Amino acid sequence: MSETDFDVVVVGAGPAGSCAALSLAKAGHSVLLVERGPFAGSKNMYGGVVYPRILDALIPNWWEEAPIQRWVTRRQTMVMTPTQSLTIDYRSDTWAKPPYNGATAYRPDFDFWLAGKAEAAGAQLICSTTVTGLLRDGHGRTIGVRTDRPDGDITARLVIACDGVNSFLAKEAGLYRRDVDANSFTLGVKETIALPTDVINERFGVRGREGADIEIIGCTGDVNGGGFIYTNLDTIGVGVVLKLSKLGAQRQRPEEIIANLKAHPSVAPLVEGGEVKEYSAHLIPEAGYDMIPTLAGDGLLIAGDAAGLCLAAGIWLEGVNFALASGMYAGDAAADALRSDDTSAAGLAGYRQRLERTFVLKDHAKLRHIPHLVLGDRLQQEYPQMVANIVERMFRVDNPRPKPGIRRILTQERRHAGIRWRDLAKDTWTAMRGFG
Ligand SMILES: Cc1cc2nc3c(=O)[nH]c(=O)nc-3n(C[C@H](O)[C@H](O)[C@H](O)COP(=O)(O)OP(=O)(O)OC[C@H]3O[C@@H](n4cnc5c(N)ncnc54)[C@H](O)[C@@H]3O)c2cc1C
Repeated sequence: MSETDFDVVVVGAGPAGSCAALSLAKAGHSVLLVERGPFAGSKNMYGGVVYPRILDALIPNWWEEAPIQRWVTRRQTMVMTPTQSLTIDYRSDTWAKPPYNGATAYRPDFDFWLAGKAEAAGAQLICSTTVTGLLRDGHGRTIGVRTDRPDGDITARLVIACDGVNSFLAKEAGLYRRDVDANSFTLGVKETIALPTDVINERFGVRGREGADIEIIGCTGDVNGGGFIYTNLDTIGVGVVLKLSKLGAQRQRPEEIIANLKAHPSVAPLVEGGEVKEYSAHLIPEAGYDMIPTLAGDGLLIAGDAAGLCLAAGIWLEGVNFALASGMYAGDAAADALRSDDTSAAGLAGYRQRLERTFVLKDHAKLRHIPHLVLGDRLQQEYPQMVANIVERMFRVDNPRPKPGIRRILTQERRHAGIRWRDLAKDTWTAMRGFG
């Protein structure tokens, strides 16, 4: 075995990269974590909620030190039309206690903290350094990375690419799927709006460190997607996730779509008087199981968004938990491969096996059809109006006429929306199969 600068180079200090580096450093390996931003998290944005239970294994009692804004105790799903809204509102006291469920956190804080844990365990972090390509030997095996630093190349026995969505390292290694196109991505845009803490508490019905998370379907006009509102201590995040292919075709601007969401009668009272502090945007891998590339090459592993491991489905927005988990499992599999001195794709097969045994690939496989269903035209353009009309007629008191029967309302509104029974049954079955 020839001498290398490090056992492992991890590219990208997002949740996936820091967990990979942390797990490898804990196992006693020399690890370099390379981040292009001036500090870990400086370039990163998301909606606002993390589900960090997977950290239990790596950072026991993480909740005592993680830079959390609020613990999500209230989760709502809202179906919206331009003039109506219907909300399912769930709240739980147990979500306000350890080990918690979801939490809101700012990514620059959270990612910085997590990278610090990797450093504390012995990983070396270099920031303001962009990896510009892979170093490969004559057999195509990855043996390190090229960087934009004057001292350039860094060699390693193994590279873990955690460089985020649309990973150019995965593409360079030929692991990316060829059928991935604009339909496989959404564009997420978000406004961070400042409001006093007591105003947020009152408007969202929360107290102390409790927080609310609202996911919205039917709020993005002709561009298929979804919306979200998350509470921090003294800001709220309001954003939309927009199907990239539709955004191009409809020629609507994301900021117009957010403005329409903020003007909706159900949202306007929540954002009123707030000052926009920040506007950010980022791509999201949306095709779920169907876009996951080959996860290992000779001397190379791919984790997090770089591997398409994200279940967003317009409104779902689970990505950080998959990044944390896949980074950790990539680190564990890499440690095994280094121990047995076999970092070929075959020697790294333990990575995929770990993902298959756990929620990472089990959830992606189970929910394989959900992103296509949720972002499909029927669910986006037809169902919200139909559902809102059904509820409107159920709640309306139209005396002197007697109340219509529920069966009649359902049949009439389905017909009015132009939805065939066959399609309704098919979509219901797809949803049940996904969640069942
Ligand atoms: C609008 C929006 C809302 C979202 N909301 C949520 C949510 O509420 N909850 C949730 O769980 N998920 C959410 N997600 C998804 C979540 O953000 C991602 O799944 C998650 O960040 C993936 O983590 P990662 O570590 O794989 O990649 P990233 O977080 O993208 O990190 C990649 C890192 O690599 C660095 N990097 C990239 N290229 C290079 C290079 N060449 N050299 C060096 N460094 C490099 C980047 O600077 C970055 O630090 C959302 C995403 C978006 C866009």
